[in-house]
Amino acid sequence: MIILYHDRFIERQEANVDIEDRAYQFGDGIYEVVRVYGGKPFCLQEHLERFERNASEIRISLPYSISQLEEHLLQLIKQNQLADGNLYFQISRGTSPRNHAFSDQLQPLIIAYTQTSSRPVKELEYGVGVISDPDIRWLRCDIKSLNLLGAVLSKQKAIDHQCHEAILVRDGHVTEGSSTNIYIVKEGTIWTHPANHLILPGITRAITLQLATQCNIPFNEKPFTLEDLYTADECFLTSTTMEICPIVQVDQKQIGSGMPGPVTKKLQEAFNQEVANQCHS
Ligand code: PMP
Repeated sequence: MIILYHDRFIERQEANVDIEDRAYQFGDGIYEVVRVYGGKPFCLQEHLERFERNASEIRISLPYSISQLEEHLLQLIKQNQLADGNLYFQISRGTSPRNHAFSDQLQPLIIAYTQTSSRPVKELEYGVGVISDPDIRWLRCDIKSLNLLGAVLSKQKAIDHQCHEAILVRDGHVTEGSSTNIYIVKEGTIWTHPANHLILPGITRAITLQLATQCNIPFNEKPFTLEDLYTADECFLTSTTMEICPIVQVDQKQIGSGMPGPVTKKLQEAFNQEVANQCHS
């Protein structure tokens, strides 16, 4: 497999990460995951914009322009002949003798690679079960940081409970999933946590809310409680890799009819159309 290493295309085995790379030692960097359908990246511009914004939030200067990065990423998809899968890229602040503080003279390192993977067809059709878990993450969840320990521990707990995702709860409110945004539907209205510092502003979240507007489905960006979730008519999660995925069970309690609901299904249809428009035209 070919990877992007700074601005070069090399074999994965040739890549070498220094033991004092700050991403390795501190999780000091940010990343993106982009879905590729039929060889075409979905919403690449939106991911690149978030990457640029996040880099600036943590005071990393990109070593080359976003349009150069875009060219490299498109080239990587081609070189690996990726049809359906994920494109991962990250930037580390760079390598320096271990010290929490950083100099602005460091040379940041961008790497990218691709993974073949099919859509989660079964989950999208039948829905998934989730557990709730305390949100122990830091207070800048809007930054897609490489520091993922809170998310890693919550996701593993979900897997240990034979569930797909952990839904995080902070101060009595449901924030998001460990790697997904979450929504409930009550009396035809969608509720989701506002895009502030407590959640990642998902690219799929933004698309989902646009699609809701197009489909005349009202939504409310207001926090809701676990009790609201248990008693919702419908519930679903979104992410780049999970798309718009129904949630049919939370903490072993059935949500709504226990089947994907009509609002969720309508959004899934609209999402598939959007993918077709962008990637299969
Ligand atoms: N929230 C968190 C915490 C995430 O890690 C992710 C996916 N990386 C999302 C939400 C969904 O974001 P996106 O739709 O951009 O994949």
